Order: sequence, then C-alpha cells, then structure tokens
Amino acid sequence: MRTSCSYHPAKPAHFECSKCDADYCAECVIKRSVPTYGRTETYYYCPKCQGMVERLDITDIIDPFWVRLPKFFIYPFHPRPLVPMLLVSVGVVLFSKPGLVNLLINLALWGVLLKYSHAALKNTAHCRYYPPKINSETISQDFGIVFKQMAIFVIVGIALSKVAQIFGLFIAKVAMIVAILSIPAMIIVLVATDSLIHAVNPVVFISMAWRIGWGYLLMYLFLTILGGAPVLLGRHVIAHLPASLHVFLFALAKCYYTIISYHLMGYVILQYHDDIGYEVDLDDEDSILTEKKVEQSAGSEILNRVDIFIKEGKIDDAIFLIRGETGGKIADLELAERYYNLLKIKQNIPDLLRHAVTYLDLLAEAKDMGKMCEVYAECATRDPGFVPRSSTLFKVASCLNQAGRPKAAVNSYNRFIKANPKDPQLPKAYFLAANIINEKLKNPKKAVGILKSLLKSYPHHEIAPHAQRYLRQISVTE
Ligand SMILES: [Zn+2]
Ligand SMILES: [Zn+2]
Repeated sequence: MRTSCSYHPAKPAHFECSKCDADYCAECVIKRSVPTYGRTETYYYCPKCQGMVERLDITDIIDPFWVRLPKFFIYPFHPRPLVPMLLVSVGVVLFSKPGLVNLLINLALWGVLLKYSHAALKNTAHCRYYPPKINSETISQDFGIVFKQMAIFVIVGIALSKVAQIFGLFIAKVAMIVAILSIPAMIIVLVATDSLIHAVNPVVFISMAWRIGWGYLLMYLFLTILGGAPVLLGRHVIAHLPASLHVFLFALAKCYYTIISYHLMGYVILQYHDDIGYEVDLDDEDSILTEKKVEQSAGSEILNRVDIFIKEGKIDDAIFLIRGETGGKIADLELAERYYNLLKIKQNIPDLLRHAVTYLDLLAEAKDMGKMCEVYAECATRDPGFVPRSSTLFKVASCLNQAGRPKAAVNSYNRFIKANPKDPQLPKAYFLAANIINEKLKNPKKAVGILKSLLKSYPHHEIAPHAQRYLRQISVTE
C-alpha cells in the first residue's frame, strides 16, 4: 500500500518520524548534506521535531504493478529503447535470407536486444523508472547473462523433449504449460541470484513464485496477453500492409513486447524484493526519491515547517517559528506572504504594518504589481500614516495610476511627501503627482500650483527643468 504524506495527501510519503507519528514526502523533510570521507552523505530530518526520519520501505513508496500498467506500455517509446528496437528490426530485415551466417547475425541481434532488456529490468528493479542509456554497459558488458537466459530456453526445450520421449505427447503438453508458466520465475531467479543452476532448479523457482503469490499469476497473465499481442497485430494489421514491411514490423512488435516484459519483471522484482530476497539499492542518484529533484532553499525549508503548523491550526507557533528563524529579516517572498497572512489572521496590526514594508519591497522586486497594490491599499486603510520605503512607494503610485486609480496614486504621493519631508526624492513625488492631477484628474490649476511651489522650493533640483517645461505646456493648452 502506498502511504501519503501527512501534509500533502496527494504526494507519496517517503519518510516517517515515529516520534511525531507522521509520514513525509521528499519535499517536507529537511535535507542536510554532509561531506564525509570525500563523498557527500545526505541526512534527512523531521520538519517538526528535527529528529532523524526513517525511510519508508519501498513497498510503501511504490504503486503495485497493476496500478502502473499503462506506464509500462509507454516505456519502450522513450528514445533510448527505440534506437535498439529500430536497429534490431532493420537488421532482421537485412539478414532475413536463410543461411548459417544470417542465422548467427540474427542471434546476435536478438542477443543485443535481450541484453538491453535485461539492463532495463535491472534499472527498474533498482527503482529507476527511466530506460537505461545505450552504452557498452547496457549493450555488451556482462553479456554472459544473455547466454544464461538462452541456456534456460535450451534446457527447458531439452527437458520437454525428454518428457515427450518417456511419458508421451499428452504429458509433454501439460509439462509445456508448466514450463511456460515458470519461465518468468526462472528469469527472476537468474537476476536475483545470477546463477543458472538456481534458475533452472524447480525447487528454487517454484518456491520463489509461491512467495510472490497471486502477484506472480497476475504478472504472468499480463505477460501472456502482451506476448499474444505481436501475433494478433501480425494477423490483423501487419498482414494488410505491404509485404515488404512484414518482417520489419513483426520484428519491431517483438522488440516492443520483449522490452515491456523485462521492464514489468523488473518492477515485480522491485515490488516483491523482500519475498524474492533482492537487495534494492535506493541511494542511487537517479532513483525514485530524486525522480523529481527537490531544490531546497533556506526559505522553503522554514516554509515547510510553517505550513505544517498552519495545517495543524497552530498559528501562534507558525508566527513564532518565522520570527525565531528569520530574526525579522525575511528575504523569501513566499515566506513573507505567509507571515503577512498569519499576522492578518491574528489581527496583529502593529506587526503586520511593520512587516508590510518588507513584504511590499519583495513584491516590488518580484514585479508582482497587482498584489503590491492590494497589500498597499490594505495597509493604507488600516493606518493613515502607513508609508512603504520610498522606492517601493513610487512603484506603488505608478502602478495605481496605471490601474486606473489616479486618486489613490496621488494619495500615495501625498503620504510619501508628508512622511519624508527631507527625502531627496520629494521633488520627484511632487512632479509625478502634478502630472496625474493634470492629466487624469483634469485639474490643471492645482497642478500648476504644485509645480510652481516645487520650482520655488527646489530651483536647483534635477527635476526642475522638467517641471519648467511641463508648466509651460500646461499654460499653453489652457
Ligand atoms: Zn509533504
Ligand atoms: Zn518528528
């Protein structure tokens, strides 16, 4: 059964904290990488109690194979397996004429495909869901495994013919059904033990299939349906296509079937690794845990812990945590937003207004103008004396003006002027306010008044020539 994260029900849990009785997804836990003896070890901690978390068993992490079935069908369409599939199919066409040399070439081609399929199986059994890369390791290294698999078929064939010789054809047919049913078990034993003797030993492979139980029969059923697919495809589709394509398409269908079968067997090994006695190496870089790489910044780490408190309704704890961890200096926009909302819920207005200054700066930096105007409006209604930092306030004002709220824009300039009578940006605020008053509020008289007093008080400011020009422009149009 798949366990879900206690705080993200849609995500599978990969860790548990027995102290907090909670399950966590990969995003919830705190990761710390520690260099040890030249390599980096990653440790995982509980976001609530900060203790080490334990990894859940793989069977708690993965879906049973019958849930994942549609994904098995897509697997061979990845470019990595498609390349050997196409090459082998083309090869089979080129060397299709009867003869010893062509037979050997065909054997070699299927051997390469079998080797690649075996690499796919191993990959899957180690929790890596992507098809393996094509390289010497997946195509030629440890090629012995392919001979061992071929040996299984040869041994089964010899055994069946012996049975037919001794007990007659009927018993041989029964034995053949048993043999076909056992082949996946033999391959799984071969993978798990790397021993041909074990793989063909009925005591070993039957007891292994027995331990998997119904899951084995179900897998067998799927493999049979899959195995029948190329034949059906051949009879109903390929037969109607031009004859020259027959050999190619039939080979391609066989490749497709082989790769899916091995991928499925690999998954069954992963799912039942405990029953089979197969060691799954989960610490690998590409494994399921890192299937989606989770980048964790300091901000997101605090955010995860904050969200856990929020989901548990512990608002005070969440606020306390943010204060404690950031010392009031919040640099992460998402965290700033959470803090703002938490203070709003608690109606802690003094802290909210203090924090809003930082929050507005972060919003301005992120160019989230809509949200910035909204937060500003909220704070301005709560406190008539509320003033953001000057550079941010200028952005707020121009954004309000663009949003078709000229009055609010002029108000925010006024607020700035009142709050910062000594600010070097003051003349600029006057100038911009006059601009809006003239153009949007259609009050040129008032605008002229503002510009005149601006020029009088700040005749040498860099904005003065602009103010002069603008003043002349208004007088002309009037
Ligand atoms: Zn989670
Ligand atoms: Zn804990």
